[in-house]
Amino acid sequence: MARGQDNGITILLGVKDLKIGEATEYEEKIVVKASLKKRAEICPYCGSTKLYKHGKGRTRQVLHTWSRGKRVYLELNLCRWKCKSCKRTFSEGKDLIRPHSRITKVTEIEALWQLKDRSFAQVGRDLGISYSTLRGLLERLIDENMLGSILNEDEIHLGIDEHSFRHQDLVHTVTEVKQRKMIG
Ligand SMILES: [Zn+2]
Repeated sequence: MARGQDNGITILLGVKDLKIGEATEYEEKIVVKASLKKRAEICPYCGSTKLYKHGKGRTRQVLHTWSRGKRVYLELNLCRWKCKSCKRTFSEGKDLIRPHSRITKVTEIEALWQLKDRSFAQVGRDLGISYSTLRGLLERLIDENMLGSILNEDEIHLGIDEHSFRHQDLVHTVTEVKQRKMIG
């Protein structure tokens, strides 16, 4: 269990792997500077520890959560690394955010949770996430093979639901409502 005053903010933000810096409140948003506690150590492809930085990281703000109705952004500078052994490149911080995404995984889960009983338009407007991003989130949950069986339909009606798994992990399911088929 995480405790202590030092990591109070990391508990609030749900980001135990981050070092939290200064927070600034603006009229319409809150920006929290953050960096990874641990930099990349091993190559995710081959396990090599011979890594070097690949290009300059760019500081960017990614949507992470909400507080008192304001969007809370993390200001991060995530680096790309290159592996000396297998020559592949990768981004650090992939538990926090998918590469090139503008929202963290915490926000992704919140958006999926809200899509359960609200429309794309409502969720998009309230969370400030575009339709294409929301659609991409949902599509990543869908098993392509299962989707093949309903693609010939003129209209597809999708339902999203959540279930608790082993009494703690939350699992989202996507169902084709008319045929009552679970597709992801
Ligand atoms: Zn490698």
